Amino acid sequence: MTAYVDYEDLFPGSQETRHLQVLSDPVLPADKYVLEERYCADPACDCRRARLEVVSARTRRLLAVVCYAFDDDPAETPDEQNPYLEPMASQGRHAPGLRDLVAHVIENDAAYRKRLERHYHDVKRFMADHPDHDLHRAVSADRRVMTAFATGIVEGLGPATAPSRPRDHAMERRKRKQRRQSRKRNRR
Ligand SMILES: [Zn+2]
Repeated sequence: MTAYVDYEDLFPGSQETRHLQVLSDPVLPADKYVLEERYCADPACDCRRARLEVVSARTRRLLAVVCYAFDDDPAETPDEQNPYLEPMASQGRHAPGLRDLVAHVIENDAAYRKRLERHYHDVKRFMADHPDHDLHRAVSADRRVMTAFATGIVEGLGPATAPSRPRDHAMERRKRKQRRQSRKRNRR
């Protein structure tokens, strides 16, 4: 479990939710696709990414969960894709096509990229400024799970069942750095 917050829940009426109207597409059904933004609610976590839940305006069904890492480091994303389909989320039939659609928008719309990053900071600031907000309970619970997981207290949990969360923590960063350094060493 990871504590995500819906941007619209914290900032209702911001009118900044993106819709993508698809009229005719070889892959995707004609629909209006709503990109609902969710962000990690832990003010102490610096994961620097947005989670975009693609919802059909027609059926209101969740069709895909696409994550976008602000820092385009291929080592930080599955399959070196950014944005990418959240591996721990259940994805709909059209998820790959929707990922491509979202990727196209992100690539071509610098203002949208900036907006996502601004929203990320809005959420972090809000959570830091509201220590009594209900969401902090979920954040604390999530930290406990992750700590237990990291220290191996949670028995019988393999990596495949690790709780889904942005892969952002200092430990992960250190590991990646070590891997990079050892790759460099191997090349010498
Ligand atoms: Zn985070």
